[in-house]
Amino acid sequence: MKKSLSLLLAAVFLFALCIPAFAAEKRYKNVIIMIGDGMGENHLKLAEQYGHTLFMNTNYDLRGQSMTSSATNLTTDSAAGGTALAIGNRVINWTVGVLGYDPLGQLKLPISITEASARKGMKTGVITTDNTTGATPADFTVHVLYRKQYEKIAQQQVESEFDLIWGARESYVSRDDAKAHGWTYVGNRDEMMALEPGSRSFGQFKGQFWRPTVPSSSDAPSLAEMTTKAIELLNTGDNGFFLMVEGAHIDKNSHASQDYKWDYDSKRESVVDAVVGFDNAIREAVEFAREDGNTVVLVTADHETGNLFADLDGRIRFHLDEHTAKNVPVFVYGNNDIFKGGQAVLNYTIPRRLTALLGWDKDEFPATQSGHAIIRFLDGMGVVRGDVDADGQITAADARLAMRAAVLAEPVTPFSQAFYAANIDLDAAITAADARHILRAAVGLESPKSW
Ligand SMILES: [Zn+2]
Repeated sequence: MKKSLSLLLAAVFLFALCIPAFAAEKRYKNVIIMIGDGMGENHLKLAEQYGHTLFMNTNYDLRGQSMTSSATNLTTDSAAGGTALAIGNRVINWTVGVLGYDPLGQLKLPISITEASARKGMKTGVITTDNTTGATPADFTVHVLYRKQYEKIAQQQVESEFDLIWGARESYVSRDDAKAHGWTYVGNRDEMMALEPGSRSFGQFKGQFWRPTVPSSSDAPSLAEMTTKAIELLNTGDNGFFLMVEGAHIDKNSHASQDYKWDYDSKRESVVDAVVGFDNAIREAVEFAREDGNTVVLVTADHETGNLFADLDGRIRFHLDEHTAKNVPVFVYGNNDIFKGGQAVLNYTIPRRLTALLGWDKDEFPATQSGHAIIRFLDGMGVVRGDVDADGQITAADARLAMRAAVLAEPVTPFSQAFYAANIDLDAAITAADARHILRAAVGLESPKSW
């Protein structure tokens, strides 16, 4: 154990030496990061085989690759893949903006690039074709232990102080709920277009607005329209802005083999639509950046989905219904010293490079914040705090989350060691009594060794 730890430390130290100082001559004011969820190189080739000349493929100042692994898995899920881009560190699969535990067992909450931007007085926005509670927008706005805690994610988002959060319609945030927290709520394209600078807006739209063009009767704007409007609203302060734009349906449509089967044209076409819809949004962002002169736009993906490959006839096909560990493209517009062209970079260095362009100190990002860690820990699990030392009902689902959180603790604490020692099967049935013990141990009311 000791030996492997010192080897690890040596490796970390050597690795730290290899991270270049991201020196940039010009200081930028605005950053737009655009994430094509699941978008690999062959997704771009697929769109070109359908006759599209992609803006992102022809206008970049610099092109490279990102290595997308998470802290625990060669192949990341969207939660950990997006978190690396949001906080500047790799994390455990399925977690959203949570770094692990310090040696005292306190949960470490990293500060996302969005939060850090807001603290510096920048305007902040996150927009997506996914639900606002989807993994990628969640990575840039909240901190939860498990990506499917949608109500927790919505609650943290509606209580946040960002300037805009827009995505697809869902039931977790109502118009009244948003208003009560000081947001202007927008539920369709007209309401979004009518927004005035200075407003803070929560948007939830209905319809296939990930498509390149949406019918004029649609409730929903296109991603390109959302991007243009978001920039107009955010580009109003003295301190610049941070905007994240996600094209979520490149991933969603690259999964979905149950709907389309692998080689059905309808599946390929839906993926091409999502790529082109995302590309149109990139064009809007880059045209703004070129005119503005103080904005850097970085386009990448959190991972590749579908293991797209060219067959012997050169036709792009889908091989898997899953994510892969393939490198994904990175395009930079408006700056060419963020890394060397053609270089493959580790995903978590991307936000570090962007904040260096803004002139931030290294102690400003990446960074963690302290807080009521245990309370957050329990909140994060979706467990009612009052149940910890009472006889309240704890469901099997709560227990599984608690177990998961405990086992995922890193570095290893006495608490998590108890679980490792017990060789607990995460999929086994967990009783309410077990759950109560776990929760009591989490807040120090009993020792794991006593049971
Ligand atoms: Zn993803």
